[in-house]
Amino acid sequence: MQLAGINTRNLANGLYIINNYSKYLASQYFSPEKMKELQLRKLKLILQTAVNTVPFYKTLNLKIDFNNFSEIELQKFPVVTKSIIKEHYNSFISEKYAHKKLQYKSTSGSSGQPFKVPKSYYSDGIEQCMMFRAWSMNPAYKYSFHKPCIVLRSFSPKVGEPPFKVDKILNYWYLSPFDINQQNLATYIQFIKKSKAQLLRGYPSSIYILTLLLKENNIRLPQIKTLFTSSENLLPHYKKVIEDYWQTPLIDWYGQNERTVTVQMCEHGNYHNNDEYGIVELDEKNQIIATSLNNNIMPLIRYATNDIAIPATNKTCTCKRGLSIPFAGIDGRADDLLIKDDNTIIATVNIYNAMEKFPDVKQFKIIQQTDKSIQLFLSENTTLSQEYICAIEMELKQRLGNVLITTEIVNEIERNKNTEKIKSIESLIKL
Ligand SMILES: [Zn+2]
Repeated sequence: MQLAGINTRNLANGLYIINNYSKYLASQYFSPEKMKELQLRKLKLILQTAVNTVPFYKTLNLKIDFNNFSEIELQKFPVVTKSIIKEHYNSFISEKYAHKKLQYKSTSGSSGQPFKVPKSYYSDGIEQCMMFRAWSMNPAYKYSFHKPCIVLRSFSPKVGEPPFKVDKILNYWYLSPFDINQQNLATYIQFIKKSKAQLLRGYPSSIYILTLLLKENNIRLPQIKTLFTSSENLLPHYKKVIEDYWQTPLIDWYGQNERTVTVQMCEHGNYHNNDEYGIVELDEKNQIIATSLNNNIMPLIRYATNDIAIPATNKTCTCKRGLSIPFAGIDGRADDLLIKDDNTIIATVNIYNAMEKFPDVKQFKIIQQTDKSIQLFLSENTTLSQEYICAIEMELKQRLGNVLITTEIVNEIERNKNTEKIKSIESLIKL
């Protein structure tokens, strides 16, 4: 709905942040007992929504005891996979919203299988509050709205455009993760200084590549007080190199576009679950099974994320936060890096973002050969036209430069027999 040119949902989400951000900053320090109580209240509501209004759960007749409610009731729900939801898509949407116009959060996912989840009304506001809180977890820095930050991600300049841009409303200063190289270094540094930002955000690989370049050139940027990574597996090697150089703890974030759970590392290097946001379980293979406490349109309950965690041996932390420690790290999103025609290193998450634009692609697989050429394998939801395939290749070339791309349509992208996973992006170039 538009009101005098303003999107009312965006406005409501903005107000949600203003009204709730300070509460979330405080609740991270609730005692574990108080946090559990809060979490149980939210869990009860979402499970009631599921069994009373979601056709998939209504037909299961789960006999949830809402009178003597405890977290054990959650175990009565089956684990649901992305394929189950895709197969019964409409029956996962609450009857209250079935006929309404919904807004979606779509994702190509790391399995290369496109999927979209309807967003609850305050979804964006809640997500931002969690994010802002995570940006503030290093005691050296507190984020508040409109403070400047450098964003070394989510920006892919077109040919002829400079590798930087500024979003004045959010005060986000974007630098292209595709162009971190010696030739652009002076421009990047000048831009960072001009921004006066103390927060640097990016993919682990993009911050890692920038760090290596600064190190090589013996350049220090003391203006940056905190570093935040997300959307890729943070390799321990990256963490060490980055923290050694910047002399400050790195805050890493784990979440999915499905918005089920969000987890971040605190300044002591332990991952904390945002317990007000979602519940994390690990199955027998250490797969993250996630329950969203916020999505009342499509409750995602015990959702199999396909991400594999490293179990935590230590469940307490000296930071004194009441937020639980669900795992010690993520093991299953280790992607190879790709190499652009001019030898710039490109994070694979950029390719996932590119592929999100093509819903007719069922799954994809990209292999980069040692000569930098790309083999692209596509399976189809509907028959892909030649123009459609050309558009995909153009999108990839925008990110990878003028490399040779050979595309092949296949019935199915094959699963790795050893890991049981589909690795969507692989590089045969070893760095
Ligand atoms: Zn901690």
